[in-house]
Amino acid sequence: MSIDYQTLAVAGVQGMMPYQPGKPIDELARELGLDPASIVKLASNENPLGPSQAALAAARAELDSLCRYPDGNGFNLKARLAEKLNVGPAQITLGNGSNDVLEIIARSFADRDSEVVYSQHAFAVYSLVTRALGAQGVEVPGRHWGHDLDAMAAAVTEKTRLVFVANPNNPTGTVHNARDIKAFLGQIPERVLVVLDEAYFEYLEGDGFPDGVALLKQFPNLIVTRTFSKAWGLAALRVGYSLSSPAIADILNRVRQPFNVDAIALAAATAVLDDDEYLARARQANADGLRQLEQGFERLGLDYVPSAGNFIAVDVGEEAGSVFQRLLEQGVIVRPIAGYGMPRHLRVSVGLHEENLRLLEALPEALNPKVDEALHG
Ligand SMILES: *Cc1c(COP(=O)(O)O)cnc(C)c1O
Repeated sequence: MSIDYQTLAVAGVQGMMPYQPGKPIDELARELGLDPASIVKLASNENPLGPSQAALAAARAELDSLCRYPDGNGFNLKARLAEKLNVGPAQITLGNGSNDVLEIIARSFADRDSEVVYSQHAFAVYSLVTRALGAQGVEVPGRHWGHDLDAMAAAVTEKTRLVFVANPNNPTGTVHNARDIKAFLGQIPERVLVVLDEAYFEYLEGDGFPDGVALLKQFPNLIVTRTFSKAWGLAALRVGYSLSSPAIADILNRVRQPFNVDAIALAAATAVLDDDEYLARARQANADGLRQLEQGFERLGLDYVPSAGNFIAVDVGEEAGSVFQRLLEQGVIVRPIAGYGMPRHLRVSVGLHEENLRLLEALPEALNPKVDEALHG
C-alpha cells in the first residue's frame, strides 16, 4: 500500500503552487542551444548594473573566514542600518532576503485559526507564507491594479492577525501616497500587525510617497520590510530586513534561524550602504530605462501599468503565454504573470539600454508572428 503523501500535507499546503521564479539564463541557453551571452533576462527585477565594487570587495574579504559561523546578531550591518535610517539596532530583524522576514513574521503572529489579509495582484509570497501555516488568506479585490486600501481595512475581522501591503507592489508597480497609507493605518486596530513591504522603496521618485520608517513611531503595529536584492544589487546574497518596535523585533528574533544571513551577505550589505554613488546610478538607470520601455510600448500601441518599481507590466492584448514563448525563442526572458490574475500582461524588468532595446525589437514578431511570417517567409 502506498501512501498519498499529498493528503498528509497541511491543508493549506495541499492547494499551494510553488513560487515561479524567472527562467535562468543558463536553462534557456541549454534548451535552445543559444550562447548564454546572447540572452537577455528581464524577468526577476534584478539590478542590471552588476554589483557595487565596494560590495564585491567586502564579499571577497570574507572568503578567508568561511570556516567560521557568521555573526548571528549581524552587529555591523544593524549598526550601519540604524545609523543610516535613524532607528535603534533593536528595531531591526535581518533575514535571508526579505522573503525570509515575511515568513518569520507570518510564523510569529499567525496560525491555523488566523486570517491574513492581502490584495489581489499582490506579491505572491504573502499567500505562500500564509497557506504554509494553514492560516486563512483573505485576498481583497484590487483597484486599478493597485490595492483597495479601504476594502482591505474593511476585510479585517477579529480573526485577522496580519495585513500585507506592498508599496510599490510587484508585479503591478502601483504605489499609494503617504496620505492614503496613513489613513489606512489609522483604520487598522492596533492588535492587527501591518506589514508594509518596501522592497522597491529606493526607486521612488518625487514627493508624497510614504517612508515606512517615519511611520513607525505613530503606528506601533507597523512592520516595514526592505531588501538589498533590488536597488542595492545583491539579489544572489539573500539579505533583507524588517524595522519595527523593539518588542516586535524581539518576537521575530525568537523565530528566525540563528544564522539566517551568511557572512558574505552581511559584509557586502554593510559595505554597499556606503556606496551612495552606486545607488544614484541604479536609480538613474532605472528612471531612464522605464521611460525607454514606456515609449517603446506606446509606439507599439501597448497599454502598460505606470510603475514606481524597476519593472513594468505591459498588456500584450491577448493571452500572454504565447508572446512569452516567442520572446524566449528570440533569447529574451520576461515574466508571465497569469498566476497573479493578469493573464494578458507580461512583467518586464528594467534592463540596460541595450537590453531594453532587444526586448522592444523582439516584441513585434512575438506579438504578430503571422504578419511577420508573411513579410519574411
Ligand atoms: C523582490 C521582492 C521582495 C524580496 O525579495 P528578497 O530577495 O527576498 O529580499 C519582497 N517583496 C516584494 C514585493 C518583492 O518584489
